[in-house]
Amino acid sequence: MSGPDLPTADPYLPGHGDRSWRAERYTLDLDYDVAGNRLRGEAVVEGVTQDDTARLVLDLAHLQVSKVVLDGAAPRRYTVHGHRLVVTARTPLPAGTAFRLLVRYAGQPRPLVDPHHGDAGWEELEDGVIVAGQPHGAPTWFPCNDRPDDKAAYTISVTVPPGYTVVANGTRTGQRRRAGGITWTFDQPEPMATYLATVQVGRYEVREQDGPVPLAWVGPADVEEAGFARQPEMLELFEDRFGPYPFASYAAVVTDDDLEIPLEAQGLATFGRNFCRDDWDAERLVAHEMAHQWFGNAVTLARWQDIWLHEGFACYSEWLWSEASERDSADTWARHHHDRLADLDQDVLLSDPGPELMFDDRVYKRGALTLHALRLVVGDDAFFDLVRGWVADHRGGSVTTDDFRAHVGAAAGDEAVAVLAAWLDATELPDLPAAS
Ligand SMILES: [Zn+2]
Repeated sequence: MSGPDLPTADPYLPGHGDRSWRAERYTLDLDYDVAGNRLRGEAVVEGVTQDDTARLVLDLAHLQVSKVVLDGAAPRRYTVHGHRLVVTARTPLPAGTAFRLLVRYAGQPRPLVDPHHGDAGWEELEDGVIVAGQPHGAPTWFPCNDRPDDKAAYTISVTVPPGYTVVANGTRTGQRRRAGGITWTFDQPEPMATYLATVQVGRYEVREQDGPVPLAWVGPADVEEAGFARQPEMLELFEDRFGPYPFASYAAVVTDDDLEIPLEAQGLATFGRNFCRDDWDAERLVAHEMAHQWFGNAVTLARWQDIWLHEGFACYSEWLWSEASERDSADTWARHHHDRLADLDQDVLLSDPGPELMFDDRVYKRGALTLHALRLVVGDDAFFDLVRGWVADHRGGSVTTDDFRAHVGAAAGDEAVAVLAAWLDATELPDLPAAS
């Protein structure tokens, strides 16, 4: 079978994303039958062409398209090739043309399997749903331009049967009863990458917490608050170190099922019931996921190869929380993990680990060590100024490792950039600078 030559936007995710256009807003209207795992959706994608093109390629997996409308009329044609929806306009769209594309679709959503990253996307739970988008799961529930640097605003409405709570990205703006159930509507005006879009459905209670922004933890009635009780303190710490919390609210969702790892999304994170424990290993992940709101969600990688800009900062934030909550210092954690990394294979290039190693724990730890080395070289005040400046300058945008080098160079000079290079551009493990 031969199909059209379809684009890949990022070599770490072959077969996803189209650089010939970008999205500005997604308006998603979903109807979900929880018991039957049946999703019906209507997506309106407002976008702009970036090249001269007559073809718009979207990512959509396992769901059947029944209608496509481009700027109020039927397009010349639309075709489906594997996980791509290819829409051909009636007339060429010069670069810079704004368009409005409506896609109606339905089916039984399920995770998408990728050879390097396993399953991601819309996933049924025992009695509910999680959406784990990172890195390739967004097409399992809405047609999108699935590349991490294409950030857009979202409005997400989900209709579910009574008795379920829905959590999605942004501020809840409506909850109204319809014939088929209850419609929950969320508005996410700050730019968001496709993989950070999410919907969580379950028989949950929402517990609000006092904090500098609306904070909550959400889950079944019988789960313990455990480490989530400390979210207000974590938020206060991270605002002090990284600058103002970048979104309107934050929620930790706890599913009734156990989950292997917590899931990051914009304005929320999802944990399995197995993370409601009082030990450090559970609590550090509560801090880790919250820190992703600054590093990953507000400031987002432009290419997956720069994943250390998310995971290095989030891992380092665990150590900062440890230090602030009167446990071991960040320096103690750094030396502990440096020793451990020294005993492992040194074959990870932090600035380009490759798709098979991008979520390797060594990327996380070496990324955090890179930041700690920088902190030791420039001193605490300069380091946290530099971090706050990084977030302030790039909030809402997309970044690369070279942007970070440039930022460090401007803030702290060439010597600091040279320190970074040893950690980023070679696989051998550098020594940590002496503690200050
Ligand atoms: Zn993470």
